[in-house]
Amino acid sequence: MTYIVTARKWRPTTFAEVAGQEHITRTLKNAIVSERIAHAYLFTGPRGVGKTTSARILAKTLNCTNQANGEPCNKCEMCNTFNSSQSLDIIEIDGASNRRIEEIRTLRESVKYAPTKGSYKVYIIDEVHMLTTESFNALLKTLEEPPEHTIFIFATTDVHKVPLTIISRCQRYDFRRIGLETIKNQLLKISKSEKVEVDDQSLTLIAKKADGSLRDAQSLFDQVIAFGGTTIKAEVVSQMLNLIDEELYFRISDSILSKNFVEAFDVSKVLYDNGWNYIDFMSGLIEHFRNVMTVILKKDASLVDSSNSIKQKYLEYIDSFSESDILRVLSYLSKAQNELKLSQNQKLLTEIVLSHIIGFEKTSTISELLDKIKTGNLSSTEVKKKANVKTPPKKEIHILAENQSSNNYTSSLSNKKDEEKNDNAKTNDKPTPRKEVISNVEANLSTEESSLINAIINELGGKELRP
Ligand SMILES: [Zn+2]
Repeated sequence: MTYIVTARKWRPTTFAEVAGQEHITRTLKNAIVSERIAHAYLFTGPRGVGKTTSARILAKTLNCTNQANGEPCNKCEMCNTFNSSQSLDIIEIDGASNRRIEEIRTLRESVKYAPTKGSYKVYIIDEVHMLTTESFNALLKTLEEPPEHTIFIFATTDVHKVPLTIISRCQRYDFRRIGLETIKNQLLKISKSEKVEVDDQSLTLIAKKADGSLRDAQSLFDQVIAFGGTTIKAEVVSQMLNLIDEELYFRISDSILSKNFVEAFDVSKVLYDNGWNYIDFMSGLIEHFRNVMTVILKKDASLVDSSNSIKQKYLEYIDSFSESDILRVLSYLSKAQNELKLSQNQKLLTEIVLSHIIGFEKTSTISELLDKIKTGNLSSTEVKKKANVKTPPKKEIHILAENQSSNNYTSSLSNKKDEEKNDNAKTNDKPTPRKEVISNVEANLSTEESSLINAIINELGGKELRP
């Protein structure tokens, strides 16, 4: 028996079988049922999402003598001749190899003739954006006044290259990228029918790699079977597709919590040894922290595109990080990602970046600190640790207390004379105005209270590590 690749073997023959494009197939079916057929259609969208397939089904249904609810019967003579690629009334043209004006002129000539057997003569032009300007102009003439029985269906991945004059004469349908779950379900259906044993993790890896294209997913699926046989394991898929092990991302986020700096270098070594791309790793790491963020915000893993076991792992982070922690990591990583693209030594830069984020301290917001004060959960040692300042020396308080008696602080900031005074104070290594505020207050506070205020100011002032 001849081997047929999955994408061809499982090509949909009815609108109902087209996955992930219900918004289009429903409209087309309704149009067929109500006999509101346009003269030209434009199907746009990414590769492998069902544009050409839908064009073929539409062409077939229009000529089917036994159509029901806008679907082809796949049994009548017209359907059979089309399914065996023998139909004379449905003409498929590849825009990439027939882009010249001569070919479009020939097409224009043939458009004049009525269909041989069916009710319509349907021209499907794939990759229509490849046509030359002259070809488009020649086509425009036909589109302006198309013969009664002629229908054009254009498919393109690059609608921006199609002239507006053409687009405005077509009914445009935008095909979507197919969702991860939809692709996984399709692959699962295929694997069951082909008696291939495959786990959820493997399906996720394949579907993610396919990036919204069902055809790509099916091709990868074939490749994986060829590589690993009829029992597919996630490790084999990772190995074959040379995917970065997701475990590495979790190792980094764990090491932020445990402050394990060695991981930065260990992970970098694993990347290097496996020949994985550092830029891909950085993108993966950003997506990883994005996932952590969604889990923290939503308190569930519904926005994580991954297998169930990985989703479970994310859920463990709900209470480990705060939104502001992740936001800082994300903004740092996205800057680093740009630098990495220009870097001569990506390994070294990755190690530095990873060490940096592992070194990030947990952030506390003012409201968190205030909450802690209110509930009395902020111990004096914690305050001192956070504040990282010693109790101000008595002498300082003395000076500032004097200052306080002779001067109102609020006026001192706006008063020019006092500004000069402050400048002098700076040169004499005296406290800066902001510290002055605190110290002024401190003069009337207990040691513990003053450290507390210092802790808050310190948080405000940003101990944040900057790249
Ligand atoms: Zn039929």
